[in-house]
Amino acid sequence: MRSISIFGATGSVGESTFDLICRAGGAKAFRTVALTGARNVARLAEMARVLRAEVAVCADESCLPDLRAALAGSGVQAAAGDAAIAEAADRPADWVMSAIVGAAGLVPGLRALRHGGTLALANKESLVTAGPLLMATAAAHGARLLPVDSEHSAIFQALVGEDIASVERIILTASGGALRDWPLPALAQATVKEALAHPNWAMGQRITIDSASMFNKALEVIETREFFGVSPDQIEVIIHPESLIHSLVGFQDGAIMAHLGAPDMRHAIGYALNWPDRAPLPVARLDLAQIATLSFRAPDLARYPALRLCREVMAARGLAGAVFNAAKEIALDRFLDGGIGFMDMAGVVEDTLARVMPEMCLETDVMTLEDIQGADHLARVRAAEAAAVLAGRRAT
Ligand code: NAD
Ligand code: MG
Repeated sequence: MRSISIFGATGSVGESTFDLICRAGGAKAFRTVALTGARNVARLAEMARVLRAEVAVCADESCLPDLRAALAGSGVQAAAGDAAIAEAADRPADWVMSAIVGAAGLVPGLRALRHGGTLALANKESLVTAGPLLMATAAAHGARLLPVDSEHSAIFQALVGEDIASVERIILTASGGALRDWPLPALAQATVKEALAHPNWAMGQRITIDSASMFNKALEVIETREFFGVSPDQIEVIIHPESLIHSLVGFQDGAIMAHLGAPDMRHAIGYALNWPDRAPLPVARLDLAQIATLSFRAPDLARYPALRLCREVMAARGLAGAVFNAAKEIALDRFLDGGIGFMDMAGVVEDTLARVMPEMCLETDVMTLEDIQGADHLARVRAAEAAAVLAGRRAT
């Protein structure tokens, strides 16, 4: 029986993973080792009971009494806190879903790789923050990383049977997010609610805002470089409002392989769950005659400064990815709590990069977890300072 764990089980990707596991037989077909969440302990406990998990862990320690109460009599162990989540990743499982949001997903992912199983990686932040370390850890332990981000799953599928050396370009598609048709000057006034109205995908709150700002695509450009080992100038971004082509790979003979499907994360998750096989999945089938047209347009860098910033990060290499991601997380927090405006997020990240990069050695690709955590911490401090300045200006 295959053993599984889901980190970030109560989130959008976690729920879709749970759905697929249940449809594939649930506790009769899988031995569930660990399920984790942050604060929604009622849902976490419910999932743990259904899958008869060994342990359920919530990140927020103040929620432990409620988690224990919700699991009473179930035989599922309860635990709480970041250390407990990392310890849950020390429990071997054949297939582990990494679907915590943000840099908090890095340590559990690294710990899970040490068992040499499969890590299905939705948490793109860990590749952006620590790509070389993550890939080296996987290689050292004979573990396999499978992409779950829809674009990267699409690229991965387009590359089956191909030699990566024959790849000329990788084209990431982007919906353009909720605000893509707004006049540029109006973007500064966009509210959280407006930025959350994603045209095609239902996702967690943070990635939905990141889609509107294209910080999500900027992270994905870096994720592509780290995962597939191509050079930054081989990676392109195109706006494709229908979100039906999930990405494309162009080869040296001029051929382009595109991956199409409904915008449903259960496709990419299911591909990673069944890999290297394919199995029927409960996703909508495309009616091409009804769709009739697919459209594309080049992204405007004035509207999406994140796409420019990710190029600077890739040129700097080393710990720049950790700085970029951490600054982005703080900028997003401040936008969500109303402190700064929508376009200020890029200002915070740009300012943080400019201040932190000269303060640290960024050249090396040999990085330890401590180096990464140090860069992440410094970037959060500097980003909070930058955001406070912008918030002050906004208030006056
Ligand atoms: P989400 O916010 O819906 O869920 C995040 C999960 O992580 C929840 O279980 C939450 O409880 C948990 N969590 C939050 N903060 C935590 C912390 N500090 N420590 C431990 N656990 C914590 O997010 P999501 O949309 O499911 O995204 C999860 C990851 O997958 C992200 O890295 C995102 O970029 C990536 N991703 C998501 C989608 C999507 O369709 N939602 C698509 C591609 C990639
Ligand atoms: Mg994506």
